[in-house]
Amino acid sequence: MENSKPHVVIVSSPGVGHLVCDLELGNRLVADHNFQVTFFVVLEYQATAGESQLIQSAKTQKLLDIIELPPVDLSGQVEPNTPIFTRLTAVMREIRPTLRYAISALKPSPSALVVDVFGTPALDVAEEFHMLKYVFVTSAWPLALMLYAPILDKEVEGEYVDQKEPIRLPGCMPVRPEDLVDPMMDRTKLEYNFFLQVGSEMRKSDGVLVNTWEDLDASTLKAMREEESYGSAPVYAVGPLIRAVGPPASRSHLLDWLDEQPVESVLYISFGSLGVLSAQQITELAWGLKLSQQRFMWVLRPPSKRDASADRGDNALDYLPDGFLEQTHSLGLVVTQWAPQSEILGHRSTGGFLSHCGWNSSLESILSGVPMIAWPLYAEQKMNATKLAEEVGVAVRPKVAPTRGVVGREEIEMMVRKVMEDLEGKAMRARIKELKISGEKALTEGGSSFNAVSQLAKQCVMNSQR
Ligand code: UDP
Repeated sequence: MENSKPHVVIVSSPGVGHLVCDLELGNRLVADHNFQVTFFVVLEYQATAGESQLIQSAKTQKLLDIIELPPVDLSGQVEPNTPIFTRLTAVMREIRPTLRYAISALKPSPSALVVDVFGTPALDVAEEFHMLKYVFVTSAWPLALMLYAPILDKEVEGEYVDQKEPIRLPGCMPVRPEDLVDPMMDRTKLEYNFFLQVGSEMRKSDGVLVNTWEDLDASTLKAMREEESYGSAPVYAVGPLIRAVGPPASRSHLLDWLDEQPVESVLYISFGSLGVLSAQQITELAWGLKLSQQRFMWVLRPPSKRDASADRGDNALDYLPDGFLEQTHSLGLVVTQWAPQSEILGHRSTGGFLSHCGWNSSLESILSGVPMIAWPLYAEQKMNATKLAEEVGVAVRPKVAPTRGVVGREEIEMMVRKVMEDLEGKAMRARIKELKISGEKALTEGGSSFNAVSQLAKQCVMNSQR
């Protein structure tokens, strides 16, 4: 009989968004459930600033055996503008020989492999080593869509975005065509086929782990478990897993600035690791902030290179309208480097978050009790935004989707005031603080997510004893 401590391998695909929650899943498995975790980091070319920081701090913590696999070189296979689903699933296909070799050297033999949403091509390797196969995904509603996509593919004629009615998902909130995830926007593209494949692979896995908890997604989780059309892979709600705020290597001046501000008075603005605005949108956001007269901290990146007509180089500050910094210097800060987001959201002076609604950011906001202005840009963010604004009631969102047009300064002013000053904002803050408590409870011993991971641990132990 092998060691009864389950040995699990987690393979994290490139990108800060995955690394953040994959590492936290690993940490929880080790710290709360006595797992041994080998954590493989897969990079595309080389680590970004955000990835390096996360890897470094995980190494310092020493909870996980972190192994960085040699970066995958996809030159010749993909173009710089190849969509993310195609690119990252290609990386995870290419990594298989390296991963196979690395797993064969592990002692004791691991009993399960966990991959994130782009890692399903690597699940083949688990089969070769008789390991259980799990997929760890972000939010529940997009998961339901992915699991159901192979059926939609047969049922729906024409493009999904042209449908007159919302897309029906059994037992779940229907999805408005304009909220669909990016790979479903054009069925003729290769990206769509990869997306369908991921859905099919998940259905064949031994379980899907989702970064939510029973109270936040009760009906969606129930539907996925009870309706046959989502397949039979068990769904485990194991969240909310967010990066733990640790002792900082060096204290950021941003936190010092926050220390000087009144309680819940600052709007934090960030669009994740990849999100960018057009030059025109940066101008409108700047004047909207000024009009609102609220304090702010804005993590600003230059517009994407595709916005060639407005190119002013790589310094993000050059895209701010003339006079903006001078006119707002007593109100706010504009930051161009990687910001310590969890710490900022957790600071008592932060009172609102204008966010692209990446799921890590959304959970970090919930667990900090900070209401949001939802500004979805890519991937599954439009679904996250709709859920947060319309179902959970902890966010406001612009009338026109930011991906479809420029949100004007007056509307921005109105949204900022709503979240920071109005009664509506106060109600959202009260609601999100309740959610924070329910999320924290789910993770503590005896809570729903804690129990879900214990169940998983039992399966892994049984597998290692076979
Ligand atoms: N993040 C950060 N500093 C930044 C930008 C992002 O710490 O300047 C972190 C953020 O706290 C979150 C992650 O990067 O944990 C982004 O993940 P999310 O799922 O929100 O968005 P993605 O980048 O994957 O679109």
